[in-house]
Formats: sequence, structure tokens, C-alpha cells
Amino acid sequence: MLRVQGYEPCGCLTEVGNALTLPCRAGLRVRGDEVYRLIYDIVLSRPEDYLSIYQSSCNHNCLKCHSWYFAQIARGYWYSPEELVKEVLKYRERVTVWESRERATMWHASDLCAHCGMCILTGSKGPYCPGKLTLDKVMWSPQGYGPARNIVSFTGGDLYCQPVFYVKVFKLIKREAPDMWVHIETNGYGLTPRNLETLYEAGLDSIWLDMKAYYEETYRYLCGTTNKWVLELPAMIHDMGVVLEVVLLYIPGLVEVDQLEKFAELLAGVDKDVPVMLLAFFPEFKLLYLRSPTLDEMVAGYAVLKKRLNKVRVGNVGVFCKTTDCINRLIELIGREAVAL
Ligand code: SF4
Ligand code: SF4
Repeated sequence: MLRVQGYEPCGCLTEVGNALTLPCRAGLRVRGDEVYRLIYDIVLSRPEDYLSIYQSSCNHNCLKCHSWYFAQIARGYWYSPEELVKEVLKYRERVTVWESRERATMWHASDLCAHCGMCILTGSKGPYCPGKLTLDKVMWSPQGYGPARNIVSFTGGDLYCQPVFYVKVFKLIKREAPDMWVHIETNGYGLTPRNLETLYEAGLDSIWLDMKAYYEETYRYLCGTTNKWVLELPAMIHDMGVVLEVVLLYIPGLVEVDQLEKFAELLAGVDKDVPVMLLAFFPEFKLLYLRSPTLDEMVAGYAVLKKRLNKVRVGNVGVFCKTTDCINRLIELIGREAVAL
């Protein structure tokens, strides 16, 4: 699909049994007139507070993949578009917070709830609670406490380079549950102009773009592909009218302040109000030899982004703050609004 549009195919592979195969062969299946996607799990996820559909098989082989056990290895159940829409309709019955389309992001979840569960467990608000939700809006899910927002997110393994399945499922969601926002979490590799437009026309509302690294050589080392057209995506997504949020990762020794500064320049040239989440790396999969960033490094990363951008938050706080004192210090340095808990 990418090659026929003049783009370099990913060249990545997914494990199926004892063999390696193309990610689209491992994660998509056509039977008769129907196309199926391999799905690992479907959960009301925290801290995103939306329905996450965790997909197996990915067009990247990221060394740091935190979902490697289902993104790099084919694992799960085959779902048709109709079967997935049934799950969305079931979830819709449990929605407690109805968001506007501009807020159909992971970024906006943290101004509603800090996911401590204190209101349910003790009857009083936790120390970092934003104080925005009444008790009836908060519920338990296997990933913790928080609200259930009217967003369905396709996450985990990324195969947006093959839009056929997504076109069917997005159109069905828009027909059966038009008040649910359709969100994808993506590395952007499959989002050529033609694919992006196709997905938008089918009903895609918002994109969580994980940009990973600015320098091409770092990106290729980390993920196995070029990032040439990924860098063009923020402008394209923004101009198309799809809601955009960007996720960046601080990886000591690999993606540090110099690359974050480049991202800040790039995004400020598109829109200074693009919501940006700076996450802290933690050792996983094939990057076990690298450490997590420190509090000071995360604050420096935040500062360089904030110089040019208005909406920056820091997440994965538990990775670099192991005590309440550390969280309080972070809040003192960058403000409560900028801390996603
Ligand atoms: S894009 Fe995401 S799911 Fe795919 S390999 Fe990279 S980190 Fe894993
Ligand atoms: S609304 Fe969220 S942050 Fe506030 S007390 Fe309840 S669970 Fe904690």
C-alpha cells in the first residue's frame, strides 16, 4: 500500500509462531468480503479515560516498545468491524463524561482526574484532584479509577498504512454511535496524504501522534524506519481539521533537549496551541540498558518545549518521581496544570 503511493514500505516484521512475517499479514486477515483485525485487548484505559482497543502487530519495530508482547508478536482475537462496533456500543452505555471534539485527546484527560480513586474509596478528594468531577462520573476499570469519556481509541500496534479495515469500522461507529469520537494513537508512518484523507473522510476525529525522535538516524535506530514524512504530519493533520495531540519521549542519551527543541520549533510553526505531552522513558523490550530521565532532565525538557508552545504537560510522572515530595517539587517547578497524574 505504501509502495504504490511512492513511499518506502516499513521493512519491519512481526513474530507469528516461530516465523517472522510482514506486520500487515500478521495483523489483518481477509475472509470472503470481510476484513478482520487482530486485537489483543479492549479496556477503559487510564490515564486516558477512554475505550482503548489494543491492536496486535505493528509497522514499527521500536527498541523501546512497551507493548512488545502483543505489538511485536501476533497475539489476540480476530475482530470484524461489526464486532468492534458492538464493543463500542457496549462502552457507550457506560460513558460518564461527554467531551467536545477538541477535547477528544489523551492530553485533556488529566485536567479532569488524577486517578487516585480517593473519592470512591474514602469519600474525600485526593490531594492532586482537579475537583472537576462528581462522584457519579468516576468508575473503576482494570487500569484504575477515573471517568469514562466518549472516545474510542485505536492503540497498540499500528497498521494505518492499510486503511481498509479502519474505513469500515470508523464509518460504522459514525453511523451507530455518532456521539463517540474516533481517535487513533499512531507513529504516523502509515499516514500518507492519501491514507490520512481516506481515514478523515471515514470519520477519524483525532490523532495522538507519537513522534519518537527528530533526527532521522536516531529514529531509524529506535524504530527501524525513516521519519521523513512523519515530520510533515503535524501541518497536514492540522490543515485537514483533525484534532492533533503530540507525544514526545525523553530518552537519556538518545532523545534529549536538543531534539525536543527541534520539535518545539516544528510544532510552533504549525500552531502554538497543539497539546504536547512529554513522557518519561522507562527501560523496556530491547532498551533495557538505558536509564529513565531524572526530575531535572524532565523539567529541562518541559522548559524547552514551553518556550515556544502553550500547552505542554509532563506525564509518566511515577517513572521519575517515586515520592510525594518529588511530585510536590515538580508541581512547584512547572505548576499543577502541567503535570499529568
Ligand atoms: S509504534 Fe508503538 S506499538 Fe509499534 S513498535 Fe513502536 S512503540 Fe511498539
Ligand atoms: S475525581 Fe479522580 S482525582 Fe479526584 S478524588 Fe476522584 S479519582 Fe481522585
